[in-house]
Amino acid sequence: MFETLSDRLDKVFTGLRGKGRLSEADIDATAREIRIALLEADVALPVVREFITAIKERARGAEVSQALNPAQQIIKIVNEELIGVLGGETRRIRYAKNSPTVIMLAGLQGAGKTTLAGKLGRWLKAQGHTPLLVACDLQRPNAVNQLSIVAGQAGVDVYAPQPGNGVGDPVAVARESIEHARRTMHDVVVVDTAGRLGIDAELMAQAAGIRDAVQPDETLFVVDAMIGQDAVTTAIAFQEGVGFSGVVLTKLDGDARGGAALSVRGVTGQPIMFASTGEKLADFDVFHPERMASRILG
Ligand code: GDP
Repeated sequence: MFETLSDRLDKVFTGLRGKGRLSEADIDATAREIRIALLEADVALPVVREFITAIKERARGAEVSQALNPAQQIIKIVNEELIGVLGGETRRIRYAKNSPTVIMLAGLQGAGKTTLAGKLGRWLKAQGHTPLLVACDLQRPNAVNQLSIVAGQAGVDVYAPQPGNGVGDPVAVARESIEHARRTMHDVVVVDTAGRLGIDAELMAQAAGIRDAVQPDETLFVVDAMIGQDAVTTAIAFQEGVGFSGVVLTKLDGDARGGAALSVRGVTGQPIMFASTGEKLADFDVFHPERMASRILG
């Protein structure tokens, strides 16, 4: 991921090497190249616009520096602006004052929610918590089973309707799970919800029903970084339909062009909190805007 974007930016910066001072025309030409690089990487247009405006303003206002040549100065500005677009500082989970803290996962089918529940379970356990994973994806026949498997791998408990009891009511399961967590002293509840292949009203209504039943402390919108521009439309739909407090980017190990990573926060205003980089439970970490920016700049 980001190879094309990194290469493009590298070319832009190489073109500036050896210049003593940046003229207005240099700044314009550089901004144009950065704009193309971002658009090619599938970054959403409003985010690109804001980014370019900021770069231009800062490049024009930049002091002539003894320590940095013009190329280095632009790289510094682009780096800082990238960190800003990616959210600035890492946003940590806000735990509830009274246990359990409830974390609800929402997103399209295939985004990686069930896998994420396992990853979060494993991660939370390593942080000293006692998480409970709750199976509220009763739509997909194998989802409950899949959640039990990842919970087993993570070494954490799972709350799920018993097989054979029919489809079941995910809102009721969600509500009961909180009571269960209180009785069994689990301090964090991770609620896996159903996703559809596309956005639909029924999916949103169900997710909103679960949200109202469990009143989550965090609702994480889980999005596959590989879906490019669709990540933005999906994010907006979930923001309107369910609302969320943080974003988890999955499949960052894929060869997507990075647009989703760079757009979602700018478009929704909500921070990227975690990143998934593979199918294994350990392929997961807190999202660090600074590290991601350095990866882009290579
Ligand atoms: P859900 O429908 O949202 O619950 O998605 P799943 O958790 O079932 O994930 C869908 C597929 O994506 C599965 O095959 C996962 O193994 C895979 N997957 C999930 N996260 C990642 C990731 O970060 N990288 C890669 N390469 N695959 C992932």
